[in-house]
Amino acid sequence: MSSNILSDPDLTVSLRVQGPDNPTESGCLYVIATPIGHLEDLSARATRLLDEVDWIAAEDTRHSQTLLQALGLKTPLISLHEHNEAARTQTLLPRLQAGEVGALISDAGTPLINDPGYTLVRSLRQANVPVVPVPGPSAVIAALSAAGLPTDRFAYEGFLPAKAGKRQQALKALLRETRTLVFYESPHRLLASLQAMAECFPERELVVAKELTKRFEAFVSGLSPEVHQWFCDHPETVRGEFVLMLSGADSKRSEAEDGCDLEALIDAMLAQGLPVKQIAEILTLATEHKKKALYQWVQTRKDRA
Ligand code: SAM
Repeated sequence: MSSNILSDPDLTVSLRVQGPDNPTESGCLYVIATPIGHLEDLSARATRLLDEVDWIAAEDTRHSQTLLQALGLKTPLISLHEHNEAARTQTLLPRLQAGEVGALISDAGTPLINDPGYTLVRSLRQANVPVVPVPGPSAVIAALSAAGLPTDRFAYEGFLPAKAGKRQQALKALLRETRTLVFYESPHRLLASLQAMAECFPERELVVAKELTKRFEAFVSGLSPEVHQWFCDHPETVRGEFVLMLSGADSKRSEAEDGCDLEALIDAMLAQGLPVKQIAEILTLATEHKKKALYQWVQTRKDRA
């Protein structure tokens, strides 16, 4: 039994300590963050380690070859993606245990953050093989650092579900979340997600960070229906990579903010033929939502009907 395993090794979860006081015979895996756009964001430490390690496990070896070429490095690449990660883990684990030193990178940003690597890292930790983070770019942190929304607490939600019903369900489940919400999104689902956010969170501030660290980097912010409308009006901007950040629920108001429940009421009033303006006025009296946001919300539902 390794001296680093301080409790029963047969248990799936046991106390392990990795650090200078607990050296192991094995090599280690460096989990290295790479740029999300701007090559100069690769740290000096990351560059040195990518040169020194025996091999680099990469999500897409062709993509990562371009990075290595730009750095003038010839370190061998091994593919590790969501479809072969379990099998790769079986081959890489004994190599690391035998003393090899490897690196894990993804196409961009920090591995494991909506990128492959969890199975490998989990297995190495369970086998007491050291895993060493080499921090650097990640779109979630870059976006939050410049968005102007509260960052003392935030909830990273990754990608919303692709299907409309599930997407709405996922958003509804977050209605009372008071932390700033962060989502990743691809260009072909951006408008659908913005529309769903505008409907579910009509009074929330939404910041869309686009193409961070790249030539067409942009931040678009406003109330969620305004941001949705802006992208509808500027379809040429719906390309590239996006981070969506939504201000959290006002804790004092979250009781009143079961916004999605209002949808049925809005639809019923629209079905009765009430004008959008009148519906917005009624709901302004009956709820704590702002009139402008309600107007946009009702109009959106009317347009969709
Ligand atoms: N591991 C990466 C990280 O640490 O940010 C995330 C990988 S995930 C597969 C890709 C998503 O991250 C994109 O669809 C986009 O939502 C976000 N993303 C990555 N690079 C970005 C950038 N330069 N600007 C804005 N969003 C970005």
